[in-house]
Amino acid sequence: MTGWVGFDLDGTLAEYDVGGPYMGPRSVGRPIKPVVDVVRSILAKGGRVKILTARVSSGGEDAATARKTIEAWCVENIGEVLPITSEKDYRMIELWDDRAVQVLPNEGLPIQDVLVDALKLLVETLDSGNLPSGLRYNIESFIDGCRDRNLTVKKVV
Ligand SMILES: [Mg+2]
Repeated sequence: MTGWVGFDLDGTLAEYDVGGPYMGPRSVGRPIKPVVDVVRSILAKGGRVKILTARVSSGGEDAATARKTIEAWCVENIGEVLPITSEKDYRMIELWDDRAVQVLPNEGLPIQDVLVDALKLLVETLDSGNLPSGLRYNIESFIDGCRDRNLTVKKVV
C-alpha cells in the first residue's frame, strides 16, 4: 500500500459532543473502539494511517498544543503516534469522517440516497411485515440516521 488512509479525530476516532462547546486543545474524547480497531488492523497489515483534523490547521499555539495532546492520545489508545495533518493529498486513498457525505464518483449522488433507494426497493419487493426484526431495526436506524443528517429521505418501513 503506497497511499494512506485518513481518519478524522473528533466524532470519528474519538467521542465528541456534536453541537457542544469545543473543549480546547488539551481535550480529546474517549476512543471509539470500532474505528480504533480499523486503524489497528490497517497498521498491523503494514498500511499507512494519518489523523486528518482541523485541530492542527491554524499553525498557531493551539495547534501545537492540540498536536501534542493528540499524540499522547494516540500512544494511549493506539499504541503509537500517528502522523497528524490537516491536509489531504494525492496519496490519501480513503477518508473516515463523521461529517463527510460520500458521493458516487462523477455522479454527484450521495451514497446514502442510493442506499435508501435500494432499501425502498428491498422493502417493496419483500413483504415488509415479514422482515426479520433485526433487519427492520437496521433499516429504520439507517434511515433515521440519514434524516438526522438533514438528507432528504422518506421512511419506507
Ligand atoms: Mg469530526
